[in-house]
Amino acid sequence: MKLTILGSGGCMTIPKPLCRCRTCREARKKGVPYARTGSSAFVHDINLLIDTPAETASQLNRSGIRRVDYLILTHLDPDHVEGLRIVEQITLDFRTWRAYPEKQICLLLPEVLSKRLGRIQSQYGPLVEAYEKRGFIRLEPFRDGVRVGPVTIDAIPVDRGEQIAFVYVFEKGERRIVYAPCDVKPFPEHRTEVQRPDLLVIQPGIFETGLRHRFRYPEDHISRTTLYTFEQTLELAARIQAKKILFVHLEEYWHRSYDDYCALESDRVRFAYDGMQVEV
Ligand SMILES: [Zn+2]
Ligand SMILES: [Zn+2]
Repeated sequence: MKLTILGSGGCMTIPKPLCRCRTCREARKKGVPYARTGSSAFVHDINLLIDTPAETASQLNRSGIRRVDYLILTHLDPDHVEGLRIVEQITLDFRTWRAYPEKQICLLLPEVLSKRLGRIQSQYGPLVEAYEKRGFIRLEPFRDGVRVGPVTIDAIPVDRGEQIAFVYVFEKGERRIVYAPCDVKPFPEHRTEVQRPDLLVIQPGIFETGLRHRFRYPEDHISRTTLYTFEQTLELAARIQAKKILFVHLEEYWHRSYDDYCALESDRVRFAYDGMQVEV
């Protein structure tokens, strides 16, 4: 399988708008790979876009990708759905104000998420309803998994009540990618589907040192309920026997530059950058 990391950043871009910290100033000056946009990826084998951060349109334009057939969302938090209007931008035929039929995008979603989609609103009502009516998308809810051409996709819920997110497992032949960019605690490590992936794409979690303002997370900080620490994430990857690990969703407030992440890499562990391509 071939994967492009369209955006390697977290809930803020790097540079964060107006920020004058060392990481942001360097990113502003040097651009990619120091600069990072919102979390998104593309599976080339099936022309599948994963998540739509605010920068989706520019991410696709600089990637050289020519076609999007499918879209899937890990969860409905703003940093993953703000760019949902990409479906209109890609498919709109100005002559009819409807979609070019051959450009319609299939929105694959676990049923739980598809039922909540109506919460994403515009002044005309639920955004997705309007997109369906005009033919921009075709919604295909599924329960536990779905097959798209040669690739099977399993959706494993990370259940945190209201804030449900999904870990997706992509399998083609003998190859397996586990994709878990955001809100992965408690990670469903008991599930057989996530065991022994060729590649685990995951957020690194909390760095305890080197943060902005020299901040130290207290033991009872709210982020500890939603995020693992970096060390815990490495232990988790070892427990599920991930052959390789690729870190994404790299937050501005971790206060680390591209070079800092490179220094932490090994044969098994890498940190993504915008536009990075991986073959599994
Ligand atoms: Zn900054
Ligand atoms: Zn996120």
